[in-house]
Amino acid sequence: ELARQFNTMADRVEESVEIIRRDRDRSRDFLADVSHELRTPLAALRTFNQLLMESAGDDPDARAEFLESSAGQIERLDWLAQNLLELSKLDSGLVLLDLRPDDLRAAVESAGHQHDTTAARRGVTVTVDLPASPIRVRHDPPRIGQVVANLVGNAVKFTPRGGWVRVTAAGTPDGARIDVADNGVGIDPSEMPHIFERFYRGSRSNEARGSGSGLGLAIVRSIVDIHGGTVEVESGPGTGSRFTIRLPVDPRTVAGTPAAEGVARIAGGKAIGERPTTDDPDEMTET
Ligand code: ADP
Repeated sequence: ELARQFNTMADRVEESVEIIRRDRDRSRDFLADVSHELRTPLAALRTFNQLLMESAGDDPDARAEFLESSAGQIERLDWLAQNLLELSKLDSGLVLLDLRPDDLRAAVESAGHQHDTTAARRGVTVTVDLPASPIRVRHDPPRIGQVVANLVGNAVKFTPRGGWVRVTAAGTPDGARIDVADNGVGIDPSEMPHIFERFYRGSRSNEARGSGSGLGLAIVRSIVDIHGGTVEVESGPGTGSRFTIRLPVDPRTVAGTPAAEGVARIAGGKAIGERPTTDDPDEMTET
C-alpha cells in the first residue's frame, strides 16, 4: 500500500514538473518573440537616425521622408508596448472589470465604426446592424469595445478593395452574441489552430498588407474569457471569415471567471474584479 502511495505521489510530482517546464518554455518563447518584435522597429529607427546624421540631414526632402518614417516606427513601438501591457494585465488576473448592466449595442456601435476611415481609404464597406431593442448583458463596455474593434480592424485589413465587413449583435436566451463577418481572404484550415496565439501571423498577412503583430486575437480571447464567454471562427480561403462572440447575461454566474471567484470569496459583499456600479436599470441584483 505504501509503495502504491509513493508511486502515485511520484507520478503527481512528475506531472507538476512537466507543467512547470512547459510554462517556463512558453515564457522563454514569449520573451524571444517580444525581443524580436521590438528589434525590427528599433533597427529601422537606428538606420533613419544614422542617415539623418549623415548626408540625408542636409536634404530637406530626404529629411522629411526619414522623419515621417521614424514617426511611424515610434507609433508601432508605442502600440506594441500598449498591447503587451494589456495582455500581461489580462494574464495576471489583475484586471478590474467594470461590469455594467448596460446596453451592449452602445459598445458595439462605436467600436464597429472605429476603422471607418481606414476602410473608406481601402475601399471596404463596413456596416453595423443592431436590433431595435436594448441588449442587456453585464459587461465591461470599453473592453468589449476593444474586442469588436480588434475584430473589425482585422476584417478590414484582410478584405480586398470592394469587399464588405458586417458587424451584428443580438440578444440570445443565454446572453448575447456579436458577429463580425467579412468576405475577405479567409483563413487556411492549417492556420486556424494558431490564430489566437500571441505573435502568430498568418501566411496571408503580407499579401493582405497586415501591419499587426499577432496580438489582436490573443487580446480578444483573454477579454472574452474573463467575461465567461466564447469565441468561434468560421473561415475558408477565399470565402471570408466570421468571428462569433457569445457573452453570458452575467459573468459572475459563470464558474471560473474572476468575477465569479470574487463572489464566491466574499459572500454578500462586492465581487472582486468588479468596480462598483451606480445604476442598475434592469434590476439585476448585486450578489
Ligand atoms: P495581426 O492581425 O496583428 O496579424 P491577430 O492576432 O489579430 O494578429 O490575427 C492573427 C492572424 O489571424 C492574422 O495574421 C491573420 O492571418 C488571421 N486573421 C485574423 N482575422 C482575420 C480575418 N478577418 N481574415 C483573415 N485572416 C484573419
